[in-house]
Amino acid sequence: MQYDSIIVGGGVVGLATALQLLDRNPNLKILVLEKENEVAKHQTGNNSGVIHSGLYYKPGSLKAKNCIHGYKLLIDFCRKHEIPFELCGKIIVATEERELPMLKTLYTRGQENGLQNLKMLTAEEIKEHEPYTRGLEGIFVPQTGIVDFRLVAQKYAEVLKQKQGEIRLGEKVLKIQVNHQLVTVETQKQTYSSKLVINCAGLYSDKIARLTSNNINVKIVPFRGEYYKLRKEKEYLVRNLIYPVPDPNFPFLGVHFTRMARGGVEAGPNAVLAFSREGYKKSDINLSELGETLAWPGFQKVAAKYWRTGLGEMYRSFSKAAFTKALQKMLPDVKEDDLVEGGAGVRAQACDRNGGLVDDFMIVEESKVINVCNAPSPAATSSLSIGETVAGLALKRL
Ligand SMILES: Cc1cc2nc3c(=O)[nH]c(=O)nc-3n(C[C@H](O)[C@H](O)[C@H](O)COP(=O)(O)OP(=O)(O)OC[C@H]3O[C@@H](n4cnc5c(N)ncnc54)[C@H](O)[C@@H]3O)c2cc1C
Repeated sequence: MQYDSIIVGGGVVGLATALQLLDRNPNLKILVLEKENEVAKHQTGNNSGVIHSGLYYKPGSLKAKNCIHGYKLLIDFCRKHEIPFELCGKIIVATEERELPMLKTLYTRGQENGLQNLKMLTAEEIKEHEPYTRGLEGIFVPQTGIVDFRLVAQKYAEVLKQKQGEIRLGEKVLKIQVNHQLVTVETQKQTYSSKLVINCAGLYSDKIARLTSNNINVKIVPFRGEYYKLRKEKEYLVRNLIYPVPDPNFPFLGVHFTRMARGGVEAGPNAVLAFSREGYKKSDINLSELGETLAWPGFQKVAAKYWRTGLGEMYRSFSKAAFTKALQKMLPDVKEDDLVEGGAGVRAQACDRNGGLVDDFMIVEESKVINVCNAPSPAATSSLSIGETVAGLALKRL
């Protein structure tokens, strides 16, 4: 069987790309290859479930454009397919004086990104939204919402099949070879051929990209994010979503409280180096993957730059008391006993050779392969827009 396009990776980005291709040309033969026995098993299925508004991202960046456009596409998709979601809004709170300039920058950025009805909040107004939250000043972002991205991905897969797209589970891509006219893709089970390959392999996107290209100058560094859950009887402490002011030097948003679309309230995720790309537990170690991360020149520079932040994150990972203390800055009433261990997710964060944690989404094109090399948060919110962009690039080649 020969395909027009093979997509590696059945996460939200790969599935959305497949959908967008078929929306534009229903006659295309599209195959998604996923190594697990279900879709959305990795980043997509273990994230915070927040529909991001686009507030944080540099105006004009791929993150800003795709998040704002993707937000609209996602909500339309959820409405059309009756996936439960809620636009409950969120607050971002500054708990220290030194965070106030960054809070104002975020407010301005949100306005530049076209968000309507953002509101700066005083300490009293913060309490009108979240009665148990302490903050000097805050921002209310009405657009932010919650959804279960696992359900979103499952629905993408269902619609894809209705449009005659194929998904093959349990097929790990091992080898890709670009020939004169076609690309062959080898899994542990079969060999396929296609006019084009699109790499949406998330935590392994750099490895898949390197199968066909010598021009990939990034390595995926896996950062585990651990969550606690509020005990049921303490869920009243959080109405919706409460975020801190993020550290502008770090690509993560900081530990936050999130009311989940599937019920319950989570606190997290922190960001610790994962010793295995799919290492969801502290004890998960893959020596060869860890060795590769440590040997990457860019990672050594990141470690030198951020060692203090990194150590703090590790300390909070091992000490529940320290994790709780960090949360108490925003929610003084929360106690260590109110928190029970939740799950974890691992973020695929591209790191360049020079020690930059790549901030924006990154798509690298070769003649018959398109690599989505960096699709961290808010890529779940942005998935249909990233898919639209990649489908546009693909159709020029088909
Ligand atoms: C802790 C955490 C919290 C987050 N919170 C949010 C949030 O609230 N809102 C938001 O918008 N975004 C959030 N994100 C980001 C978002 O989840 C990801 O950006 C998004 O899911 C990326 O989707 P993906 O399809 O690229 O990757 P993935 O979901 O990881 O999918 C990649 C797929 O490729 C498969 N694969 C890998 N190698 C191979 C191979 N060799 N052969 C076949 N298949 C392969 C994997 O098995 C996997 O299923 C969060 C991420 C994490 C980890």
